[in-house]
Amino acid sequence: MTTYVIKGARILGGQKKDLLIRDGVVAEIGTGLSAAGAQVVDADGLVALPGLVDLHTHLREPGREDAETVETGSRSAALGGYTAVCAMANTSPVADTAGVVEQVWRLGREAGLVDVQPIGAVTVGLAGEQLAELGAMADSAARVRIFSDDGNCVADPRLMRRALEYVKAFDGVVAQHAEEPRLTSGAQMHEGEVAARLGMTGWPAVAEESIIARDVLLAEHVGARLHVCHVSTAGSVEILRWAKGRGIRVTAEVTPHHLLLTDERATSYDPVFKVNPPLRTATDVAALRAALVEGVIDIVATDHAPHAVEDKECEWAYARPGMLGLETALSIVLDVVGDELGWDGIAERMSRTPARIAGLTGHGLEPAAGAPANLTLVDPAARWTVDPAGLASRSRNTPYAAMTLPGRVVATFLHGEPTVLDGKAVK
Ligand SMILES: [Zn+2]
Repeated sequence: MTTYVIKGARILGGQKKDLLIRDGVVAEIGTGLSAAGAQVVDADGLVALPGLVDLHTHLREPGREDAETVETGSRSAALGGYTAVCAMANTSPVADTAGVVEQVWRLGREAGLVDVQPIGAVTVGLAGEQLAELGAMADSAARVRIFSDDGNCVADPRLMRRALEYVKAFDGVVAQHAEEPRLTSGAQMHEGEVAARLGMTGWPAVAEESIIARDVLLAEHVGARLHVCHVSTAGSVEILRWAKGRGIRVTAEVTPHHLLLTDERATSYDPVFKVNPPLRTATDVAALRAALVEGVIDIVATDHAPHAVEDKECEWAYARPGMLGLETALSIVLDVVGDELGWDGIAERMSRTPARIAGLTGHGLEPAAGAPANLTLVDPAARWTVDPAGLASRSRNTPYAAMTLPGRVVATFLHGEPTVLDGKAVK
Protein backbone atom coordinates (compact mmCIF):
# COMPACT_ATOMS: atom_id res chain seq x y z
CA MET A 1 0.00 0.00 0.00
CA THR A 2 1.13 3.53 -0.76
CA THR A 3 1.89 5.87 2.13
CA TYR A 4 0.35 9.34 1.89
CA VAL A 5 1.18 12.61 3.60
CA ILE A 6 -1.71 15.06 3.53
CA LYS A 7 -0.13 18.48 4.02
CA GLY A 8 -1.83 21.32 5.85
CA ALA A 9 -5.43 20.13 6.20
CA ARG A 10 -7.68 21.85 8.76
CA ILE A 11 -9.31 18.98 10.67
CA LEU A 12 -12.96 19.97 11.19
CA GLY A 13 -11.91 23.49 10.27
CA GLY A 14 -9.30 23.76 13.07
CA GLN A 15 -5.54 24.37 12.91
CA LYS A 16 -3.52 23.21 9.91
CA LYS A 17 -2.06 19.74 10.40
CA ASP A 18 -0.31 17.08 8.35
CA LEU A 19 -1.73 13.56 8.31
CA LEU A 20 0.45 10.53 7.64
CA ILE A 21 -1.63 7.71 6.21
CA ARG A 22 -0.15 4.24 6.17
CA ASP A 23 -1.59 0.71 6.05
CA GLY A 24 -5.17 1.93 6.01
CA VAL A 25 -4.97 4.06 9.14
CA VAL A 26 -4.00 7.59 10.13
CA ALA A 27 -0.55 6.74 11.49
CA GLU A 28 0.36 10.20 12.73
CA ILE A 29 -0.96 13.75 12.93
CA GLY A 30 1.42 16.68 13.37
CA THR A 31 3.34 19.37 11.56
CA GLY A 32 6.22 18.99 9.12
CA LEU A 33 5.50 15.27 8.65
CA SER A 34 7.23 13.33 5.92
CA ALA A 35 7.90 9.70 5.08
CA ALA A 36 10.20 8.00 2.61
CA GLY A 37 8.41 7.16 -0.61
CA ALA A 38 5.19 8.83 0.48
CA GLN A 39 2.87 10.50 -1.98
CA VAL A 40 2.19 14.08 -0.88
CA VAL A 41 -1.34 15.49 -1.10
CA ASP A 42 -1.42 19.29 -0.87
CA ALA A 43 -4.37 20.16 1.37
CA ASP A 44 -3.65 23.87 1.77
CA GLY A 45 -7.00 25.59 2.34
CA LEU A 46 -8.88 22.30 2.64
CA VAL A 47 -10.98 21.03 5.53
CA ALA A 48 -10.67 17.37 6.59
CA LEU A 49 -13.86 15.62 7.66
CA PRO A 50 -14.51 12.03 8.62
CA GLY A 51 -15.72 10.29 5.44
CA LEU A 52 -19.43 10.94 4.96
CA VAL A 53 -21.92 8.12 5.57
CA ASP A 54 -25.24 7.93 3.71
CA LEU A 55 -27.98 6.00 5.44
CA HIS A 56 -30.31 6.09 2.43
CA THR A 57 -28.99 5.30 -1.07
CA HIS A 58 -30.69 3.54 -3.97
CA LEU A 59 -28.02 1.76 -6.02
CA ARG A 60 -30.58 -0.02 -8.28
CA GLU A 61 -28.50 -3.20 -8.67
CA PRO A 62 -29.67 -5.91 -9.08
CA GLY A 63 -32.43 -5.19 -11.57
CA ARG A 64 -32.13 -1.65 -12.92
CA GLU A 65 -28.51 -1.46 -13.98
CA ASP A 66 -29.63 0.94 -16.73
CA ALA A 67 -30.32 3.54 -14.00
CA GLU A 68 -27.36 2.84 -11.66
CA THR A 69 -25.03 0.05 -10.63
CA VAL A 70 -23.27 -0.58 -7.36
CA GLU A 71 -20.12 0.62 -9.09
CA THR A 72 -21.49 3.84 -10.65
CA GLY A 73 -23.40 4.70 -7.48
CA SER A 74 -20.29 4.05 -5.40
CA ARG A 75 -18.24 6.36 -7.62
CA SER A 76 -20.93 9.00 -7.30
CA ALA A 77 -20.77 8.59 -3.51
CA ALA A 78 -16.97 8.85 -3.37
CA LEU A 79 -17.09 12.07 -5.43
CA GLY A 80 -19.62 13.42 -2.94
CA GLY A 81 -17.19 12.75 -0.07
CA TYR A 82 -18.79 9.51 1.14
CA THR A 83 -16.88 6.49 2.39
CA ALA A 84 -19.94 4.37 3.25
CA VAL A 85 -23.48 4.09 1.92
CA CYS A 86 -26.43 2.00 3.03
CA ALA A 87 -28.09 0.46 -0.02
CA MET A 88 -31.89 0.35 0.06
CA ALA A 89 -33.66 -2.96 -0.45
CA ASN A 90 -36.10 -2.05 -3.24
CA THR A 91 -34.06 -3.71 -5.96
CA SER A 92 -35.22 -6.43 -8.35
CA PRO A 93 -35.14 -9.01 -6.91
CA VAL A 94 -35.86 -7.31 -3.59
CA ALA A 95 -33.09 -7.59 -0.98
CA ASP A 96 -35.24 -9.73 1.31
CA THR A 97 -32.96 -12.79 1.61
CA ALA A 98 -29.41 -13.47 2.76
CA GLY A 99 -28.54 -14.28 -0.88
CA VAL A 100 -29.47 -10.89 -2.29
CA VAL A 101 -27.93 -8.79 0.52
CA GLU A 102 -24.71 -10.80 0.19
CA GLN A 103 -24.72 -10.18 -3.57
CA VAL A 104 -25.00 -6.39 -3.05
CA TRP A 105 -22.36 -6.49 -0.31
CA ARG A 106 -19.97 -8.44 -2.57
CA LEU A 107 -20.53 -6.05 -5.51
CA GLY A 108 -19.69 -3.18 -3.18
CA ARG A 109 -16.43 -4.81 -2.14
CA GLU A 110 -15.53 -5.50 -5.77
CA ALA A 111 -16.15 -1.87 -6.76
CA GLY A 112 -14.02 -0.78 -3.78
CA LEU A 113 -15.07 2.88 -3.92
CA VAL A 114 -17.13 3.08 -0.72
CA ASP A 115 -18.19 0.55 1.87
CA VAL A 116 -21.62 -0.62 0.70
CA GLN A 117 -23.77 -1.76 3.61
CA PRO A 118 -26.94 -3.47 2.37
CA ILE A 119 -30.28 -2.71 4.02
CA GLY A 120 -32.65 -5.67 4.21
CA ALA A 121 -36.36 -5.57 3.40
CA VAL A 122 -38.78 -5.76 6.33
CA THR A 123 -41.38 -7.75 4.41
CA VAL A 124 -41.14 -10.35 1.64
CA GLY A 125 -41.03 -8.58 -1.74
CA LEU A 126 -41.80 -5.26 0.03
CA ALA A 127 -45.41 -6.46 -0.15
CA GLY A 128 -46.21 -5.60 3.45
CA GLU A 129 -47.77 -8.97 4.17
CA GLN A 130 -45.17 -11.27 5.67
CA LEU A 131 -41.91 -10.59 7.54
CA ALA A 132 -38.77 -11.29 5.51
CA GLU A 133 -35.94 -13.45 6.89
CA LEU A 134 -34.53 -10.70 9.09
CA GLY A 135 -32.42 -13.05 11.19
CA ALA A 136 -30.84 -14.75 8.17
CA MET A 137 -29.90 -11.35 6.71
CA ALA A 138 -28.47 -10.24 10.06
CA ASP A 139 -26.39 -13.44 10.27
CA SER A 140 -25.22 -13.25 6.64
CA ALA A 141 -21.83 -12.00 5.47
CA ALA A 142 -23.52 -8.61 4.91
CA ARG A 143 -24.34 -8.35 8.68
CA VAL A 144 -27.54 -6.41 8.01
CA ARG A 145 -28.61 -4.15 10.89
CA ILE A 146 -31.03 -1.77 9.13
CA PHE A 147 -34.29 -3.05 7.69
CA SER A 148 -36.59 -1.00 5.49
CA ASP A 149 -39.35 -1.41 2.92
CA ASP A 150 -38.45 2.06 1.65
CA GLY A 151 -40.47 3.05 -1.37
CA ASN A 152 -43.30 1.45 0.57
CA CYS A 153 -44.46 2.03 4.12
CA VAL A 154 -44.78 -0.87 6.55
CA ALA A 155 -48.42 0.13 6.91
CA ASP A 156 -49.72 -2.83 8.95
CA PRO A 157 -49.16 -1.92 12.62
CA ARG A 158 -48.97 -5.55 13.68
CA LEU A 159 -46.19 -6.30 11.19
CA MET A 160 -44.37 -3.12 12.23
CA ARG A 161 -44.56 -4.20 15.86
CA ARG A 162 -43.21 -7.66 15.04
CA ALA A 163 -40.36 -6.22 12.99
CA LEU A 164 -39.37 -3.93 15.89
CA GLU A 165 -39.48 -6.90 18.29
CA TYR A 166 -37.36 -8.99 15.95
CA VAL A 167 -34.57 -6.46 15.33
CA LYS A 168 -34.34 -5.60 19.04
CA ALA A 169 -32.66 -8.99 19.61
CA PHE A 170 -29.55 -7.90 17.68
CA ASP A 171 -29.84 -4.13 18.22
CA GLY A 172 -31.04 -3.61 14.66
CA VAL A 173 -33.23 -0.76 13.53
CA VAL A 174 -36.32 -0.47 11.37
CA ALA A 175 -36.13 2.48 8.96
CA GLN A 176 -39.65 3.52 8.09
CA HIS A 177 -40.85 5.26 4.93
CA ALA A 178 -43.71 7.00 6.72
CA GLU A 179 -46.67 7.18 4.34
CA GLU A 180 -50.15 5.97 5.19
CA PRO A 181 -50.99 4.54 1.76
CA ARG A 182 -54.72 4.99 2.10
CA LEU A 183 -54.17 8.74 2.40
CA THR A 184 -51.88 9.08 -0.62
CA SER A 185 -53.66 7.05 -3.27
CA GLY A 186 -53.01 8.72 -6.64
CA ALA A 187 -51.01 11.53 -5.04
CA GLN A 188 -48.77 13.57 -7.36
CA MET A 189 -47.40 16.29 -5.08
CA HIS A 190 -47.81 17.96 -1.68
CA GLU A 191 -51.47 18.59 -0.78
CA GLY A 192 -51.81 22.35 -0.47
CA GLU A 193 -52.38 25.59 -2.35
CA VAL A 194 -50.04 24.79 -5.24
CA ALA A 195 -51.64 21.37 -5.84
CA ALA A 196 -55.08 22.97 -5.79
CA ARG A 197 -53.93 25.57 -8.32
CA LEU A 198 -52.44 22.91 -10.61
CA GLY A 199 -55.34 20.51 -10.16
CA MET A 200 -53.06 17.70 -8.98
CA THR A 201 -53.98 15.07 -6.39
CA GLY A 202 -52.30 15.91 -3.10
CA TRP A 203 -50.10 13.93 -0.67
CA PRO A 204 -51.18 15.34 2.70
CA ALA A 205 -48.73 15.97 5.54
CA VAL A 206 -50.94 13.91 7.83
CA ALA A 207 -50.15 10.75 5.83
CA GLU A 208 -46.55 11.05 7.06
CA GLU A 209 -47.28 12.42 10.52
CA SER A 210 -49.86 9.76 11.46
CA ILE A 211 -47.40 6.94 10.70
CA ILE A 212 -44.56 8.61 12.62
CA ALA A 213 -46.88 9.13 15.62
CA ARG A 214 -47.94 5.48 15.51
CA ASP A 215 -44.41 4.16 15.06
CA VAL A 216 -42.78 6.14 17.87
CA LEU A 217 -45.45 4.71 20.17
CA LEU A 218 -44.78 1.19 18.87
CA ALA A 219 -41.02 1.72 19.34
CA GLU A 220 -41.66 2.86 22.91
CA HIS A 221 -43.92 -0.12 23.60
CA VAL A 222 -41.37 -2.59 22.23
CA GLY A 223 -38.26 -0.75 23.46
CA ALA A 224 -36.69 -1.05 20.02
CA ARG A 225 -34.91 1.40 17.71
CA LEU A 226 -36.88 3.21 15.03
CA HIS A 227 -35.41 5.37 12.29
CA VAL A 228 -37.63 7.69 10.27
CA CYS A 229 -36.63 8.17 6.64
CA HIS A 230 -36.85 11.51 4.80
CA VAL A 231 -38.88 13.59 7.27
CA SER A 232 -40.62 16.27 5.22
CA THR A 233 -43.15 18.21 7.34
CA ALA A 234 -43.15 20.70 10.22
CA GLY A 235 -45.72 18.51 12.00
CA SER A 236 -43.40 15.48 11.85
CA VAL A 237 -40.72 17.55 13.59
CA GLU A 238 -43.11 18.28 16.48
CA ILE A 239 -43.92 14.57 16.90
CA LEU A 240 -40.22 13.67 16.87
CA ARG A 241 -39.44 16.37 19.44
CA TRP A 242 -42.16 14.95 21.70
CA ALA A 243 -40.93 11.37 21.23
CA LYS A 244 -37.32 12.25 21.96
CA GLY A 245 -38.41 14.16 25.04
CA ARG A 246 -40.02 10.95 26.29
CA GLY A 247 -36.79 9.02 25.74
CA ILE A 248 -38.15 6.96 22.85
CA ARG A 249 -35.34 5.41 20.79
CA VAL A 250 -36.02 7.21 17.53
CA THR A 251 -33.68 8.83 15.02
CA ALA A 252 -34.64 10.75 11.91
CA GLU A 253 -33.18 11.91 8.63
CA VAL A 254 -33.88 14.79 6.26
CA THR A 255 -32.82 14.94 2.61
CA PRO A 256 -30.93 17.84 1.01
CA HIS A 257 -33.83 18.44 -1.38
CA HIS A 258 -36.35 18.81 1.44
CA LEU A 259 -33.98 21.35 3.01
CA LEU A 260 -33.86 23.48 -0.13
CA LEU A 261 -36.76 23.05 -2.55
CA THR A 262 -40.50 23.70 -2.18
CA ASP A 263 -43.69 22.52 -3.88
CA GLU A 264 -43.64 25.70 -6.01
CA ARG A 265 -41.19 23.79 -8.24
CA ALA A 266 -44.09 21.67 -9.48
CA THR A 267 -45.45 24.67 -11.36
CA SER A 268 -42.74 23.96 -13.95
CA TYR A 269 -44.33 20.52 -14.54
CA ASP A 270 -40.74 19.25 -14.79
CA PRO A 271 -40.79 15.71 -13.34
CA VAL A 272 -37.23 16.15 -12.08
CA PHE A 273 -38.98 17.79 -9.09
CA LYS A 274 -41.28 14.80 -8.48
CA VAL A 275 -40.17 12.95 -5.36
CA ASN A 276 -41.65 10.89 -2.55
CA PRO A 277 -42.36 12.27 0.01
CA PRO A 278 -43.05 15.36 -2.10
CA LEU A 279 -41.43 18.77 -1.85
CA ARG A 280 -43.37 20.71 0.80
CA THR A 281 -43.97 24.37 1.66
CA ALA A 282 -41.49 27.06 2.67
CA THR A 283 -42.81 26.74 6.25
CA ASP A 284 -41.90 23.04 6.25
CA VAL A 285 -38.45 23.77 4.79
CA ALA A 286 -37.77 26.32 7.55
CA ALA A 287 -38.91 23.85 10.24
CA LEU A 288 -36.71 21.07 8.80
CA ARG A 289 -33.63 23.32 8.74
CA ALA A 290 -34.22 24.41 12.32
CA ALA A 291 -34.81 20.79 13.44
CA LEU A 292 -31.56 19.65 11.83
CA VAL A 293 -29.61 22.43 13.54
CA GLU A 294 -31.36 21.74 16.87
CA GLY A 295 -30.77 17.99 16.59
CA VAL A 296 -34.44 16.91 16.59
CA ILE A 297 -33.61 15.60 13.13
CA ASP A 298 -30.37 13.67 13.62
CA ILE A 299 -28.88 13.34 10.17
CA VAL A 300 -28.88 14.26 6.50
CA ALA A 301 -29.44 11.29 4.16
CA THR A 302 -29.54 11.67 0.41
CA ASP A 303 -32.35 9.32 -0.74
CA HIS A 304 -30.21 9.21 -3.92
CA ALA A 305 -32.75 7.81 -6.40
CA PRO A 306 -31.41 7.43 -9.93
CA HIS A 307 -33.94 6.86 -12.70
CA ALA A 308 -33.49 6.02 -16.37
CA VAL A 309 -34.46 8.74 -18.85
CA GLU A 310 -37.69 7.03 -19.94
CA ASP A 311 -38.87 6.85 -16.32
CA LYS A 312 -38.22 10.51 -15.65
CA GLU A 313 -38.45 12.54 -18.87
CA CYS A 314 -42.14 12.00 -19.48
CA GLU A 315 -45.42 13.47 -18.25
CA TRP A 316 -45.42 14.35 -14.55
CA ALA A 317 -48.16 11.82 -13.78
CA TYR A 318 -46.17 8.91 -15.24
CA ALA A 319 -42.72 9.90 -13.99
CA ARG A 320 -41.11 7.89 -11.20
CA PRO A 321 -40.48 9.84 -8.01
CA GLY A 322 -36.90 10.44 -6.94
CA MET A 323 -33.79 12.60 -7.37
CA LEU A 324 -30.03 12.15 -7.49
CA GLY A 325 -28.29 13.28 -4.34
CA LEU A 326 -24.86 11.83 -3.59
CA GLU A 327 -22.68 14.27 -5.52
CA THR A 328 -24.50 17.41 -4.36
CA ALA A 329 -25.51 16.63 -0.74
CA LEU A 330 -22.59 18.26 1.07
CA SER A 331 -22.81 21.41 -1.07
CA ILE A 332 -26.55 21.77 -0.45
CA VAL A 333 -26.07 21.32 3.31
CA LEU A 334 -23.26 23.90 3.30
CA ASP A 335 -25.50 26.24 1.35
CA VAL A 336 -28.59 26.02 3.57
CA VAL A 337 -27.27 25.38 7.11
CA GLY A 338 -23.47 25.44 6.82
CA ASP A 339 -23.02 28.56 8.95
CA GLU A 340 -25.35 27.35 11.72
CA LEU A 341 -23.88 23.84 11.88
CA GLY A 342 -20.19 24.56 11.42
CA TRP A 343 -17.81 21.78 10.38
CA ASP A 344 -18.25 19.79 13.58
CA GLY A 345 -22.03 19.91 13.19
CA ILE A 346 -21.75 18.77 9.60
CA ALA A 347 -19.46 15.88 10.62
CA GLU A 348 -21.99 14.94 13.30
CA ARG A 349 -24.98 14.90 10.96
CA MET A 350 -23.38 13.47 7.83
CA SER A 351 -20.80 11.06 9.27
CA ARG A 352 -20.68 10.24 12.98
CA THR A 353 -24.37 9.83 13.71
CA PRO A 354 -25.29 7.95 10.53
CA ALA A 355 -22.32 5.62 11.17
CA ARG A 356 -23.56 5.02 14.71
CA ILE A 357 -27.16 4.36 13.60
CA ALA A 358 -25.92 1.89 10.99
CA GLY A 359 -23.39 0.25 13.33
CA LEU A 360 -20.52 0.99 10.92
CA THR A 361 -17.67 0.99 13.45
CA GLY A 362 -14.87 1.91 11.01
CA HIS A 363 -16.68 5.09 9.89
CA GLY A 364 -17.67 8.36 11.48
CA LEU A 365 -14.40 8.61 13.41
CA GLU A 366 -12.29 11.74 13.77
CA PRO A 367 -9.12 11.80 11.70
CA ALA A 368 -6.90 10.84 14.67
CA ALA A 369 -3.77 8.71 15.12
CA GLY A 370 -4.73 5.05 14.91
CA ALA A 371 -8.16 5.64 13.37
CA PRO A 372 -9.12 4.00 10.07
CA ALA A 373 -8.26 6.45 7.27
CA ASN A 374 -11.78 7.08 6.00
CA LEU A 375 -11.87 10.79 5.37
CA THR A 376 -12.72 13.49 2.91
CA LEU A 377 -11.01 16.78 2.03
CA VAL A 378 -13.28 19.67 1.13
CA ASP A 379 -12.49 23.04 -0.42
CA PRO A 380 -14.87 25.40 1.38
CA ALA A 381 -14.00 28.34 -0.88
CA ALA A 382 -14.79 26.57 -4.15
CA ARG A 383 -18.03 27.13 -6.01
CA TRP A 384 -19.19 24.87 -8.79
CA THR A 385 -22.06 24.69 -11.22
CA VAL A 386 -24.00 21.44 -11.43
CA ASP A 387 -23.86 19.90 -14.91
CA PRO A 388 -26.01 16.75 -15.09
CA ALA A 389 -23.80 15.33 -17.87
CA GLY A 390 -20.75 15.73 -15.65
CA LEU A 391 -22.09 13.58 -12.80
CA ALA A 392 -20.71 10.08 -12.26
CA SER A 393 -24.16 8.59 -11.67
CA ARG A 394 -25.53 6.60 -14.58
CA SER A 395 -28.69 8.74 -14.37
CA ARG A 396 -29.23 12.46 -14.92
CA ASN A 397 -32.20 13.32 -12.71
CA THR A 398 -30.63 16.03 -10.58
CA PRO A 399 -32.93 18.88 -9.54
CA TYR A 400 -29.93 21.19 -9.19
CA ALA A 401 -28.91 21.47 -12.87
CA ALA A 402 -27.19 24.79 -13.60
CA MET A 403 -27.26 25.78 -9.93
CA THR A 404 -24.00 27.17 -8.51
CA LEU A 405 -23.20 25.62 -5.12
CA PRO A 406 -20.55 26.17 -2.46
CA GLY A 407 -17.96 23.62 -1.34
CA ARG A 408 -16.24 20.99 -3.41
CA VAL A 409 -14.90 17.57 -2.46
CA VAL A 410 -11.25 17.49 -3.51
CA ALA A 411 -10.19 14.09 -2.16
CA THR A 412 -11.73 11.07 -0.46
CA PHE A 413 -9.78 8.31 1.25
CA LEU A 414 -11.26 4.86 1.88
CA HIS A 415 -9.26 2.53 4.15
CA GLY A 416 -6.14 4.60 3.48
CA GLU A 417 -6.38 4.68 -0.30
CA PRO A 418 -7.72 7.60 -2.34
CA THR A 419 -10.96 7.04 -4.24
CA VAL A 420 -11.00 10.70 -5.31
CA LEU A 421 -7.99 12.98 -5.90
CA ASP A 422 -8.01 16.52 -7.34
CA GLY A 423 -11.79 16.28 -7.50
CA LYS A 424 -11.69 13.30 -9.85
CA ALA A 425 -12.46 9.63 -9.26
CA VAL A 426 -9.26 7.59 -9.08
CA LYS A 427 -10.83 4.52 -10.74
ZN1 LIG B 1 -38.73 6.49 0.87
